[in-house]
Amino acid sequence: MKARKLLMIPGPIEFEPEVLQPMSTPTTSHVAPDFVESFGNSLDMMKEVWLAPSGQPFIVAGSGTLAMDMAASNLVEQGDHALVISTGYFGERYAELLKRYTDNVDMLKAEHGKVVPVDQIEDQFKKKNYKLLTFTHVDTSTAVINDPRPIAELGKKYNVITILDGVCSVAGEEIRQEEWGIDIAFTASQKAIGVPPGLALLVASQKAMKAWNNRKTPVANYYADWNNWLPIMEAYGNRKPAYFGTPAVNLVLALEKSLQIILREGMETRFKRHKKIGKAFREAMKAAGLKMIPDEDRVSANTLSAPYYPSGVNGKEFLQKVSEEGIILAGGLIADIKTQYFRVGHMGAVNRSDLLATIGAIESALRNSGHKIEPGICLKKAQEILDS
Ligand SMILES: *Cc1c(COP(=O)(O)O)cnc(C)c1O
Repeated sequence: MKARKLLMIPGPIEFEPEVLQPMSTPTTSHVAPDFVESFGNSLDMMKEVWLAPSGQPFIVAGSGTLAMDMAASNLVEQGDHALVISTGYFGERYAELLKRYTDNVDMLKAEHGKVVPVDQIEDQFKKKNYKLLTFTHVDTSTAVINDPRPIAELGKKYNVITILDGVCSVAGEEIRQEEWGIDIAFTASQKAIGVPPGLALLVASQKAMKAWNNRKTPVANYYADWNNWLPIMEAYGNRKPAYFGTPAVNLVLALEKSLQIILREGMETRFKRHKKIGKAFREAMKAAGLKMIPDEDRVSANTLSAPYYPSGVNGKEFLQKVSEEGIILAGGLIADIKTQYFRVGHMGAVNRSDLLATIGAIESALRNSGHKIEPGICLKKAQEILDS
């Protein structure tokens, strides 16, 4: 039996072998001509993946949290008002993070499984002059998706900078950064972009860069400061070597490969594929009688799902059984309901066989945990949707 298990968590995900290859090639100098070329290519391709032709991309060694920190520290000055729209764990993290840079942080919090209504955000904008707003495209703790369009529209109407935490969505869910008017969109390498963990990837609009330029006080974070990184990105963009902090050389080579694979598939095809996979997975779970955290399809992510365990099923034992079937899933993340649900990542390189193997393993584990369902009922539903 194959010893390797299938990693179906919301990041790190399963990576393409072609992407993993550069991880084991000898590390070159960060100023070697071939590496400069790969870095520059990656910056160019990021603008295509984010659909932000006039955006300013940044590639920096660090995790997704660094990307959150980079957006906050470069755009917030002490005294500025920031509004966090929270749909789960990562919204709460953003509020905590922003408090390091200003005392004026407000949060609008959705109930589990719901989004904050756009009217409520607008009411808040009427009360105070906000410099920026953050929202989580897909909150990885709840599998709730926000529609970025009306939020970006509000940002334009009230001249508020909009920051989209796309760590669980970029290169999976539909994002048209420039057309929709999102000022910052960022992700981390290990999620739908399909590269091992270690890169923070961010694209800033010209409006965001201007706001940063107009700051009156220094950026209160040395490593994340765009004064340090912008000249580096501009140099590599022009295929010239530069140095501020040593780039994660092998990861950047892997990123170049993954971005090539993503663009070869095409963004439109990729958005559609994720929508189909997301729907197939959700409907398969519903066929077994499982309830999902997102309370309707409109707010359900396509990159991951978060089903509640059915009554009588012990979560820990269930995950153990799925693991014995060769599939790794994730447990709950939201503190107050942590033990009541599990999470399944289905983004990036995930294919039909991965999805069906996962659904099959879940189905067996449910049956072996005493949840009475007809064998094959979930697989049948998933196949119907995948074949449609
Ligand atoms: C994973 C994730 C993060 C944090 O990324 P790290 O790489 O773990 O620091 C932030 N936001 C969202 C939505 C995520 O899914």
